[in-house]
Amino acid sequence: MSLMEQDFSQICARTRYCFTCSQGFCLDCCTGHEAFHHPGNEQARIVQVRVVRHVHCIQEEDLKGIRYDLRGIQKFNVEGVKYIPIKRNILPGTMPLTCKRCGDRMYVGKDYCGLLCRLQHVPGGNVQSRAIVSALAHTPFHRQAVDRFCTVCQRLFYSSCCADHIASHHPGQTEVGSVLRILRRDGMILIPLSDLVEFDEADLTQIETIAFNGYNTVAVKRTANHLNDEAGNLCIGCFNIIGESFSYCSLPCMVHFVYD
Ligand SMILES: [Zn+2]
Ligand SMILES: [Zn+2]
Ligand SMILES: [Zn+2]
Ligand SMILES: [Zn+2]
Ligand SMILES: [Zn+2]
Ligand SMILES: [Zn+2]
Repeated sequence: MSLMEQDFSQICARTRYCFTCSQGFCLDCCTGHEAFHHPGNEQARIVQVRVVRHVHCIQEEDLKGIRYDLRGIQKFNVEGVKYIPIKRNILPGTMPLTCKRCGDRMYVGKDYCGLLCRLQHVPGGNVQSRAIVSALAHTPFHRQAVDRFCTVCQRLFYSSCCADHIASHHPGQTEVGSVLRILRRDGMILIPLSDLVEFDEADLTQIETIAFNGYNTVAVKRTANHLNDEAGNLCIGCFNIIGESFSYCSLPCMVHFVYD
């Protein structure tokens, strides 16, 4: 699917954690993580991250090899499987059981709501185990809007899910212009002009630019309220009013008119 046909409302929810590269990722953004990011490494250890009672958790079983002391951390039992919460999460309701470290309500009478709170409250233990648990506990797992588009595999993804996407998934391909940054502003989808190397520069300069976060961008999606209401040109593609030195309001209008 081309860039214009993408669903930019796509949300990434990381459901996996890789102990080998200390990254959270999802199977949509980074399909085949093991093979692409750790080729030849059969020890790459990937575990599932699951939301249990509003908290991101991993199975107690998956932490065994790390030999971090889990005593005092609340556990959730789901169909015989024990889950360890990763980090603090404000819970609904009025449960009186509070975490010694953050004071958050808990479901069961234990000392800590999750891995991060125990880590921060209890010093010592094996240095290596602490480092591994700390990396996991500091990984953000909240939902994120996708912020990259790969022109090689023609997919949107969230950058933190797939670091070094080109080098890992498309070794040997050129880096320049292969991954486009997707910026968002008030419902608009913007791309820095400097990322759009596959288009002819003469065509690109005819699209009205929008300055955002230090980038000179063009829109893939524009909202009406950001169009000029002063006298100017009409976009050749959609007849919206734009600045007088431009011919198109957005990338799709240009592409539709010039390339289709
Ligand atoms: Zn993702
Ligand atoms: Zn990995
Ligand atoms: Zn806590
Ligand atoms: Zn790709
Ligand atoms: Zn990847
Ligand atoms: Zn237009």
